[in-house]
Amino acid sequence: MSDRLPGFSTLAVHAGAQPDPTTGARATPIYQTTSFVFNDADHAASLFGLQAFGNIYTRIGNPTNAVLEERVAALEGGTAALAVASGHAAQVVVLQQLLQPGDEFIAARKLYGGSINQFTHAFKSFGWNVVWADPDDIASFERAVTPRTKAIFIESIANPAGGITDIEAISTVARKAGVPLIVDNTLASPYLIRPIDHGADIVVHSLTKFLGGHGNSLGGIIVDAGTFDWSTGGKYPMLSEPRPEYHGIRLQETFGNFAFAIACRVLGLRDLGPALSPFNAFMILTGIETLPLRMQKHCDNAKAVAEFLVGHPAVASVSYAALPSDKYNQLARKYAPKGAGAVFTFSLKGGYDAGVSLVSKLQLFSHLANVGDTRSLVIHPASTTHSQLDDAAKIKSGAGPDVVRLSIGIEDKEDLIADLEQALGA
Ligand SMILES: *Cc1c(COP(=O)(O)O)cnc(C)c1O
Repeated sequence: MSDRLPGFSTLAVHAGAQPDPTTGARATPIYQTTSFVFNDADHAASLFGLQAFGNIYTRIGNPTNAVLEERVAALEGGTAALAVASGHAAQVVVLQQLLQPGDEFIAARKLYGGSINQFTHAFKSFGWNVVWADPDDIASFERAVTPRTKAIFIESIANPAGGITDIEAISTVARKAGVPLIVDNTLASPYLIRPIDHGADIVVHSLTKFLGGHGNSLGGIIVDAGTFDWSTGGKYPMLSEPRPEYHGIRLQETFGNFAFAIACRVLGLRDLGPALSPFNAFMILTGIETLPLRMQKHCDNAKAVAEFLVGHPAVASVSYAALPSDKYNQLARKYAPKGAGAVFTFSLKGGYDAGVSLVSKLQLFSHLANVGDTRSLVIHPASTTHSQLDDAAKIKSGAGPDVVRLSIGIEDKEDLIADLEQALGA
């Protein structure tokens, strides 16, 4: 063996996986079991006391899921990861480790519509208060910091318009405030952007999108960068204080640079319960093997479609960071040189009605609420994903009435352009 470090495509196929020691199975088996037999009473006690690593019960961990966790941690450059049932579950589990009732977190205003809902409504009922900031105005994050701020949450490539966030600038604000930076890297995937390289402390994903990639399985994951010191100032008692249910151990002291991933598992997943099915973990692992190939094709197709739209007379504007004229192009060159992702928006001169009409005329594009499928997808955010926002908030989050969002798939780009051409022209 050479001492070369494996490259990204090699890790996408191999990280975390070994031939099955019992059967020799080369693909990762689906360990479709709820529970695991202990070797003896001492073994059982040491697993329950966190003195040994091993399997107890699939709500807390499963060998198929463990391969997925190791693989995504390797691709993101983190120390450890925890797979959960959905992207939303990942967000709940992360914030449960960080916030007490009455605490605040700062979130970029340009987010997945479901995250805006989750932060505004569900989290409020837990006593976790979101304070919105503008990802295009770094000073707005600084101004939002208070003594109760416990985290900052951003998307690397932001919904719905595909803007690129200046992760390093916001990580500087987080560092100064003494709070972790959480980056939702769903739209970029680690193939395009690795937020930890730019100062993120925690990365979350909806695995449902580009990582799984085929529109067939929900999943989420939390990646611990291992960079944050949880012991300072008693701000994060879940990590720094003795845990009564684990013989008084302190997670930060015991687990060091992967303490956050452990807290998410042994406090978050154990008690909240959103475990990922091993079957879904298997589907998502299979998807990840082709992530680099798919993601490049997604980006190349998206650029061709965006360029076609720029030249179309029915189109008022196109917001896609890979276009040289786009306001995020400078940031795209820095953070996502291989491509600016496959999710972007454009606006129609005909406004709301033209958006609704376009969506109904497209044939190859599927009209649905998802992104990151092999298939090309379209949605009119103002009448669907962002319909809960008032008009001003819609426009602020990039989902005005004339805006259509595309998620470009891996079909032939000529077919995608022909479909848009007939739907826009007719
Ligand atoms: C889909 C999505 C989520 C939520 O993930 P689920 O798997 O649907 O729960 C969160 N963030 C982004 C950017 C998403 O696209």
